[in-house]
Amino acid sequence: MFKRCTGLDVKESGMSEQIIVIGGGAAGMMAAAAAAMQGCGVLLLERNEKLGKKLYITGKGRCNVTNACDTEEIFEQIVRNAKFMYGAIYTYDNFQVMDFFEQNHTPLKTERGGRVFPVSDHASDIIRTLAKELERLQVDVRLHTRVTSVTKENETFYVTDRNHKTYSASKVILATGGLSYPATGSTGDGYLFAEQFGHTLIKPVPSLTAMYTEESYIPKLQGLTLKNVRARVLDGCKTLYDEFGELLFTHFGVSGPLMLRASAVINDRLHKGPLRLSVDLKPALTQEQLDRRILRDFEQARNKQFKNALHQLLPAKMIPVLIDLSGIDPERKVNEITKEERKHLIEILRNFPATLTGFRDFNEAIITRGGIHVKEIHPSTMESKRVKGLYFAGELMDVDAMTGGFNLQIAWSSGYLAGLSAGQAGQTDETPQKKECGIS
Ligand SMILES: Cc1cc2nc3c(=O)[nH]c(=O)nc-3n(C[C@H](O)[C@H](O)[C@H](O)COP(=O)(O)OP(=O)(O)OC[C@H]3O[C@@H](n4cnc5c(N)ncnc54)[C@H](O)[C@@H]3O)c2cc1C
Repeated sequence: MFKRCTGLDVKESGMSEQIIVIGGGAAGMMAAAAAAMQGCGVLLLERNEKLGKKLYITGKGRCNVTNACDTEEIFEQIVRNAKFMYGAIYTYDNFQVMDFFEQNHTPLKTERGGRVFPVSDHASDIIRTLAKELERLQVDVRLHTRVTSVTKENETFYVTDRNHKTYSASKVILATGGLSYPATGSTGDGYLFAEQFGHTLIKPVPSLTAMYTEESYIPKLQGLTLKNVRARVLDGCKTLYDEFGELLFTHFGVSGPLMLRASAVINDRLHKGPLRLSVDLKPALTQEQLDRRILRDFEQARNKQFKNALHQLLPAKMIPVLIDLSGIDPERKVNEITKEERKHLIEILRNFPATLTGFRDFNEAIITRGGIHVKEIHPSTMESKRVKGLYFAGELMDVDAMTGGFNLQIAWSSGYLAGLSAGQAGQTDETPQKKECGIS
């Protein structure tokens, strides 16, 4: 039934497998399953006490597995090295990912923006499905096993864990993730292993993350969420980012889906210096409509103080900040406000200003930008161009995407391709035997 690859190599005090996958996250689990499907003996080494620790917290515990968009649209959502991902995505696309989970009794649903989630809203169902598949395919999963070194002598890799146990194999798949949310186990170990094999590391930086702002009035808005606003990030007169959505103010700056996405777009530029953020608080209203709206509010409150005339227009937390920025005395009677002052107020509502100064750290970043240079990896197999038999999968590589399920799609596709390629390269048979499996 199971076709084992030959050429197993045993080293003293260790056990031997044909393919070793390091890292039991999304990419590693998928890689192990795809390799095992080819009939190879697969050993999966994971440092944590359980598989897929990061997967548990994806999509706020619901796991946005992938996106149901047309497959070619995925590439528009990959921010770095989209072309490198062609082979992987077309080998194992978003619809195949969905089929895999559905065929394995994990029904999915599609929400706004094509985001795909398990019907149960439990990320744990996604992990359980993968873990079951690994069991079915007889993948040898070792938990609590942190790899500390990977070396190669002749045609054999030697993988040593922190308890000095050494495993050997003819192929190794590195799927150790990036640096984001290090508490989930991704602490960049794979970067070191790859660098020791001569691979180049593109400096990892946090992305899809909240940002710091300069102005002292921003922390006063802490906890305030603005829905349906328009955020623009400007470099001088040049617009770098312009989108609608939800923005959250925090004690240090700005966050929320709108700003997380912005962080991916402006990432390289913000590392070089501050950028201007301009928020349109009333994007649904034209200039005339906004002017009429304010006139109406002012008319109704004409004998009130300015500070008591904005409650219809703005959330309470925002009012003192807006008043401060407008320069209008809060005690002034509304009927004393001049046309110029009203115009200036409108200008602030249209362009609520802040200065972006940097990113929050890896502890809060959804993904890592940077990683192993993709020019040194074969895009059609995920095998290293430097070291035969060494493969890469997932966030460890210099590939990242926007929110919406695209980062997990990168993990599934690259994991699948790495496992498939390593498994097929391990075949001694001329005709690779495809095992019957939920992944196809
Ligand atoms: C809060 C949060 C929410 C997210 N939500 C989504 C979402 O809904 N949709 C989406 O598409 N993406 C989401 N992402 C991004 C997505 O989770 C990652 O892109 C994806 O998990 C990367 O998979 P990976 O397997 O490459 O890396 P990881 O998931 O980081 O897995 C790497 C594994 O390797 C193990 N490991 C590391 N070093 C060693 C070692 N030396 N020895 C043994 N094992 C080791 C780690 O313990 C870990 O289990 C989210 C990320 C975060 C942080």
